[in-house]
Amino acid sequence: MIIQLQPDISSKQKETLIDKVNGIGYKTTEVKTQLGDYLIGIGKKDFDIRKIGQLDGIRDIHIVSDEYKLVSKKWKAKPTSIDLGDGVFIKDGEMAIITGPCSIESEEQIRNVVAHCVENGIRMMRGGVFKPRTSPYAFRGMGIDGLKLWHSIASEAGIKIVTEVMQTSQIEEMYPYVDIYQVGARNSQNFNLLDELGKVDKAVMIKRGISGTIEELLQSAEYVFSGGNEKLILCERGIRTYEKASRNTLDLNAIPILKAKSHLPVIVDPSHGIGIRSYVPQMALAGVMAGADGVIYESHEIPEKAYSDGQQTLDFAQSARLANWIRESFAMRKGFELL
Ligand code: PEP
Ligand code: MN
Repeated sequence: MIIQLQPDISSKQKETLIDKVNGIGYKTTEVKTQLGDYLIGIGKKDFDIRKIGQLDGIRDIHIVSDEYKLVSKKWKAKPTSIDLGDGVFIKDGEMAIITGPCSIESEEQIRNVVAHCVENGIRMMRGGVFKPRTSPYAFRGMGIDGLKLWHSIASEAGIKIVTEVMQTSQIEEMYPYVDIYQVGARNSQNFNLLDELGKVDKAVMIKRGISGTIEELLQSAEYVFSGGNEKLILCERGIRTYEKASRNTLDLNAIPILKAKSHLPVIVDPSHGIGIRSYVPQMALAGVMAGADGVIYESHEIPEKAYSDGQQTLDFAQSARLANWIRESFAMRKGFELL
């Protein structure tokens, strides 16, 4: 059960409410986010809401049977819109395009990608400065100095920055320079990191874990939300299956399912999803048709020279074409939705 509290609820009213809810058989947790205060009740399935609905200090109340609560559509039917400023949004009813290299490599590379984004009307750029690599000997990123450099170039061009945070100690130093903190697949259930990201007021995009279920992704989002931060985006990036012919198995099913289960926007990552450059456009468009609110894909001026993930990275000509196809496919999908 979720009870949204009135902002001006008195401590006496809150105490009475908590006693009453505990008395019914719930275990309650108080949650304060940047947008609201809630009381989450766990442990009982059915009861007559009218028993407490009349108490003072309640703004809204719902029974949410899902394991995740505040990110559930059963709690909030209206889709969440992420406002990044300067007219850049990630939201239901719009198509977000995010592109850029796997890794930020040099000033020249940043300038090239920023120019590519500007030329193609793409307002959000991805890139890793802290790279989670399977091998410790692989390129591990330019670090915070790379992020500062990137921010100085991107912000001048009105481009928003999406980049991965790998550990709690990086959150604060990254804060002035990021627009969206990306939680990578390997960190999808790093609950300390999720808790800490609940305390910031910038958007967080959580990637599905390598072997994570849809439910686990939603529970990870619940961590950040209940930690205080409602600015959340979910990302389907492929899961590990027995199939070896592709890097991962992009779970297109997850897109409509996540959209139905949660009010949060859903982004598809076809680059990591299939891991093969020539199939990235197909899978991107499949993701759009499946209902995604945005696409994040890797691009680089010379993919063969990329420090990481070159095999799944588009060159700028391919990226420009894909951006247009994404927009056209989205327009077509909107047409279907009207039928
Ligand atoms: C990335 O976005 O480059 C990345 C490492 O993604 P993931 O965490 O999905 O593997
Ligand atoms: Mn990558």
